[in-house]
Amino acid sequence: MLITNLDEFVGNSTIKSQLARIFDLKNFPNSIMIEGESGLGKSTLSKIIATAAVCSSLKNSPCCKCKNCKKSLCDSHPDIIYLEKSGISQSFGVNEIRKVKKESCILPNEASFKIYIFEEADKMTRQAQNAILKLLEEPSNSTIFILTCNSAHSLINTLCSRCQIFSLSLVDIDLIIKFLKLHNPNASEEDLGKAAKISGGNIKKALDEIHSKTNALESNLKNMISFILEKNEWKMIVFLSDLSANKENFICLFTSFLLLLKKSAIIKISSKSILSQNEKEEIKTIIQGLELKKILSLIDIIEKILEYQKSNIDPNMLSAYFCTQAYSCINQSK
Ligand SMILES: [Zn+2]
Repeated sequence: MLITNLDEFVGNSTIKSQLARIFDLKNFPNSIMIEGESGLGKSTLSKIIATAAVCSSLKNSPCCKCKNCKKSLCDSHPDIIYLEKSGISQSFGVNEIRKVKKESCILPNEASFKIYIFEEADKMTRQAQNAILKLLEEPSNSTIFILTCNSAHSLINTLCSRCQIFSLSLVDIDLIIKFLKLHNPNASEEDLGKAAKISGGNIKKALDEIHSKTNALESNLKNMISFILEKNEWKMIVFLSDLSANKENFICLFTSFLLLLKKSAIIKISSKSILSQNEKEEIKTIIQGLELKKILSLIDIIEKILEYQKSNIDPNMLSAYFCTQAYSCINQSK
């Protein structure tokens, strides 16, 4: 997921308004430190800052439209340099930092600023931290150094005092739900709420949680479609009996399958001879594998199942009903 500007960055409103002022005035500090636990968006924020610094628009930077912004967003801007990590500690060594010191006095290639990004700076040795300190002590007006770390306390004090520190915090659950919903419009309210709660305010954890749910749903849907097309009732019975243990997942699967069938029916009825490239793979499979009459019968069966489940009927019974009805319909000759 690409978050390209401050408006899209979730939570942390104080930091965002501080940065918005910096961006508007093009008054970037020479040294910036972004601290916060893993998953709060340190890399995303450093990229937004770097993009705003190279952006050629006078207002609303990063504009994400100019040549500089576009190059930054695809990680190919020559004035934005990510320091490469090496060695056992997977961090930057003194030699790399000395090289930066030599290069940083050369003017930027294309933008007004040259930005050096040191990610996970807290993994650096003390010696390397001292080398960076020397670098920050003699800044040039066109250079910005961005350091990210889990906690500023793990770095030497003299280095921290040279930087403007932005401390990212955990995000309110309501904001996380809103954010997840925006990026996962098909996820159920219940799954969104659960993912937000499990995350404890950590946006990366929330995204991982909701993705694991949606991926599971996608693979279940693929199974269901292939067991229908293969006319393999036995596999379907075993598959649904495993799934029946969790009523919520069971209903979610049938609801999503119903949606796919309805979309497939609409496409068949409108007799589009060629499917568009964006059409989901599952829809293409249904359209190619089932006649319209059978798709409509399956829609009818699933609508009944979703209606019956409201009366609290056991998912195992509903599975049995589905298998009997669905396979008697798809086994019929034309
Ligand atoms: Zn721009």
